[in-house]
Amino acid sequence: MSITENISEIRARMARAAEKSGRRPEDVLLIAVTKLHDPDEMEEAIRAGVTDIAENKVQEIQHKFDQISLPVRWHLIGHLQTNKVKYIIDKVVMIHSVDSLKLAQEIDKRAGAAGKVMDVLIQVNAAHEESKFGADPKDVPQLAADIAAGCPNVRIRGLMHIAPYAEDPEEVRPYFREVKALYDELAGQYPDFAYLSMGMSHDFETAIEEGANIIRVGTSIFGERDYTRKMGGE
Ligand SMILES: *Cc1c(COP(=O)(O)O)cnc(C)c1O
Repeated sequence: MSITENISEIRARMARAAEKSGRRPEDVLLIAVTKLHDPDEMEEAIRAGVTDIAENKVQEIQHKFDQISLPVRWHLIGHLQTNKVKYIIDKVVMIHSVDSLKLAQEIDKRAGAAGKVMDVLIQVNAAHEESKFGADPKDVPQLAADIAAGCPNVRIRGLMHIAPYAEDPEEVRPYFREVKALYDELAGQYPDFAYLSMGMSHDFETAIEEGANIIRVGTSIFGERDYTRKMGGE
């Protein structure tokens, strides 16, 4: 199937999952994860109606940014080192991977210098996986409070979560539920909260059923990634 066909199939599946959770299809945003894919594939997705794309590496955004001429919003979804914030501050609309005050402070400084306020999500590591970044759920309320108090050029818009890989997405439903509960708790205190980013190719329907309103999908749109590729250098 082509990229365009894959996207229309995903949209149909998203709509069914949204209806199951009592929401409208247009209440859930599809972000196409374009890491390790070429600009021409990315542009096919944009022509098929994708409005938002995401990369997990700063270098890859730098490498591709000027090669995409169609209008689209860029997101950073991967781990961000403080020394690289300056390279993307003027390129992305949202950073999904904030998990420390130190990183938020650097984003605050760079956003201030660029004369903007940066939208961010706090990444939550609900499964306590050693291999993944993200804040422990119990530390998230304090982290949100510290960022809100000390980083005027950072606007916390919600939470992001990467579930552990499971053959059967039912196994990770409890994590989605836990992160949604934390989201609801914080949304009551932070009026800017609007986004719950969770769900990927193999689990996005479960994530939507549990309340996600942003899903990040790569493989189901573009096919398998070739991890031997180097894009933008390392
Ligand atoms: C790669 C990636 C995705 C997309 O994963 P697929 O399984 O290819 O849909 C989503 N979120 C993050 C943070 C990623 O790094």
